[in-house]
Amino acid sequence: MAHRNYPHEDDISPLFSRKAEARRHQGHSLPKHGMLADTAYQVIHDEVMLDGNSRLNLATFVGTWMEPYAQRLYADTVDKNLIDKDEYPATAAIEERCWRILADLWHAPSAKDALGTSTVGSSEASMLAGLAMKRRWQAARRAAGKPTDRPNLVMSSAVQVCWEKFANYFDVEPRYVPITDEHPVFDGHELERYVDENTIGVVAIMGVTYTGAYEPVAQIAGALDRLQLASGVDVPIHVDAASGGFVAPFLQPDLPWDFRVPRVVSINASGHKYGLVFPGVGWVVWREVEAVPKDMIFTVAYLGGEMPTLAINFSRPGAQVLLQYYNFLRLGFDGFTEVQQASQDVAHYLSGAIAKMSAFELLSDGSDIPVFAWRQRAGHTDKWDLHDLSDQLRQRGWMVPAYPLPDNLTDRTVQRIVVRDGLSMDLAERLLSAIRDSVRYLDGLSAPMPKEGRQHGAFHH
Ligand SMILES: *Cc1c(COP(=O)(O)O)cnc(C)c1O
Repeated sequence: MAHRNYPHEDDISPLFSRKAEARRHQGHSLPKHGMLADTAYQVIHDEVMLDGNSRLNLATFVGTWMEPYAQRLYADTVDKNLIDKDEYPATAAIEERCWRILADLWHAPSAKDALGTSTVGSSEASMLAGLAMKRRWQAARRAAGKPTDRPNLVMSSAVQVCWEKFANYFDVEPRYVPITDEHPVFDGHELERYVDENTIGVVAIMGVTYTGAYEPVAQIAGALDRLQLASGVDVPIHVDAASGGFVAPFLQPDLPWDFRVPRVVSINASGHKYGLVFPGVGWVVWREVEAVPKDMIFTVAYLGGEMPTLAINFSRPGAQVLLQYYNFLRLGFDGFTEVQQASQDVAHYLSGAIAKMSAFELLSDGSDIPVFAWRQRAGHTDKWDLHDLSDQLRQRGWMVPAYPLPDNLTDRTVQRIVVRDGLSMDLAERLLSAIRDSVRYLDGLSAPMPKEGRQHGAFHH
């Protein structure tokens, strides 16, 4: 090898001065030439430094922390496509084990007769559950010689956006029951004004995204029982337990919200919320196989035979499903209880401290899922509102959204914190200091905060 008496550019290659790094990369067309792997890594790694820190993102319900062994399993299994059941029969078997565990946890009369599937999240799960209700209603109407062209779905005005999407994409009329001061959660009152023979189902939410509150599923079922006695209309309930499905079994084990309520036909939950997995997995379970019309089921090759599948997506990551199973094995019932209790303890600690501040009034305290919301106390000040507080907290690194409540309380702005695994008591204490500092700063302003051009904290439905 020729000896060089001066260092060559490529031998030292200081990352931020070599050709590729010194270029700009933000075009909207494919670059003509490639770059070194470590340069590409650095470019992208550096750009996303500008994102918020996910652990300080108190807007999201979705997992932002898993322990190192879970991360190792994730790295080991990123290459698995969940749909390749024939090629990855062990992963397929684990997926089925997971939804049967959930069927059992949610008190299906027989986990053997239940049917379920993993999905990419609760949104896909709710599409499948909604579609099954629509198809079942259509079949019954057709059998009775009645028209099937005007299906409707009854739910709270506080539903997550996935139900608006379901109604839109699958041509179902959404009927929203407004929340009010008298009925801050959908509780089945005046249901007869909304439900009729064209109602394919009623959605009840375990963990309303705005406040974290549970809707009283058994009470809603009672209202539907009375309605059936009076009118003969028999309407099933689907429970959207995106968050609560992984909380209620552990923190409120005696609350009958699941298949213990006979009218509940299906339940969805997000594995990537309180199922404690990184983004990309949800679950839907039906009480019994018969609840899903056969025409929704497709088959894929599996161990030389066929396996029924039920999904909107085809290819999907298998790793998230394996991580869900990791959590089931790693934590067990007791471990899940401990983790969720720890989050609720933090939620109670934070909501208790915020309740004591004269600027605020609590709407919920984290006693259902570990999520709580508050509003500004009437008459506290005209100088600032919760959007200003959200901006102040953002400047201190914390993301705590402020947003209006849904109909009929849209004139009311609230702020919400989602406490997840990973928000420790220590961090919560730092957050409280940031809230106190922000309020002190805002209260001390000599003039009101300008309303023009301020940033709004993102609200995660
Ligand atoms: C988050 C959420 C959804 C949507 O779930 P994804 O897993 O994000 O698709 C649906 N319903 C409720 C109540 C939620 O909180």
